[in-house]
Amino acid sequence: MVQRVGIIGAGQMGAGIAHVCALAGLDVHLSDVEEFALSAAVSSIERNLARQASRGKVANGDVKAAMARISTGQDYAAFADSDLVIEAATENEAVKREILKALVPHLPATALIATNTSSISITRLAAVTDRPGKFIGMHFMNPVPIMQLVELIRGIATDQDTFLVVKALAEKLGKTVAVAEDFPAFIVNRILLPMINEAVYTLYEGVGSVESIDTAMRLGANHPMGPLQLADFIGLDTCLSVMQVLYEGLADSKYRPCPLLVKYVEAGWLGRKAGRGFYDYSGDEPVPTR
Ligand code: NAD
Repeated sequence: MVQRVGIIGAGQMGAGIAHVCALAGLDVHLSDVEEFALSAAVSSIERNLARQASRGKVANGDVKAAMARISTGQDYAAFADSDLVIEAATENEAVKREILKALVPHLPATALIATNTSSISITRLAAVTDRPGKFIGMHFMNPVPIMQLVELIRGIATDQDTFLVVKALAEKLGKTVAVAEDFPAFIVNRILLPMINEAVYTLYEGVGSVESIDTAMRLGANHPMGPLQLADFIGLDTCLSVMQVLYEGLADSKYRPCPLLVKYVEAGWLGRKAGRGFYDYSGDEPVPTR
């Protein structure tokens, strides 16, 4: 059973995972290389819990109790009593490998490790650790407190026990599990990201403006968000990384990242989290940039 959860990476996903774990009564330790990310994560969790409480979805007392279960810090020694550590840092294989290598010496032999990667091979990440049998992909969706799904991905060496413990945890968090095999980008992003990339090509080729592409897909395909709005929400750096993993991993030119997506990432226009992507978020309402 999992009671003490460590989370590495306190961005949009790490904060969301900490939120749902603490609300479910687990003790959470959240870590990030950037100190400001930790204080930003704590404030965003507090704000989101308060919003849930104001809508009657969470009792006021539970908000306080959940916040009290979250600790933060930058030293991996704090993971020494973890039952499970979830890696939710930037979508970059080199970064994740370094984190895993630095983490394992601090963990008890019994601890499980999960990665929230959107696309990278679970088998390859597991091989960096001293415990591939205790390693699994646990892919939460954004925003974590709202989205129902957790994709579970076994690496080639993942033990059945690891799978069952992590599945039980996902269910305890109120999530529904879909099991995917360890292929680039698994299920959700194998299907979703090529659509988003195609929307960026549609913009790049001048077929439509940001507004017309998003309106077309919201009203024409009944998607709750347009693909460019969704790309900004996911983070354009994450979108590009997933497309690169698909392109390289499946060796098929149909996954070629759109040059405009590359350019936006090079410009630092990473979407909502950066204040600008396909929309500008500096005012009250997002304004299309093209
Ligand atoms: P983000 O940019 O919001 O946050 C990433 C965090 O990782 C940052 O705070 C950064 O400082 C931190 N970080 C970078 N290097 C680190 C290191 N060496 N040690 C510790 N922390 C480090 O990104 P995100 O959207 O939260 O994505 C995180 C992970 O979750 C990625 O693997 C991504 O693919 C995955 N994911 C993202 C989404 C999404 O919609 N954004 C959905 C599912 C899964």
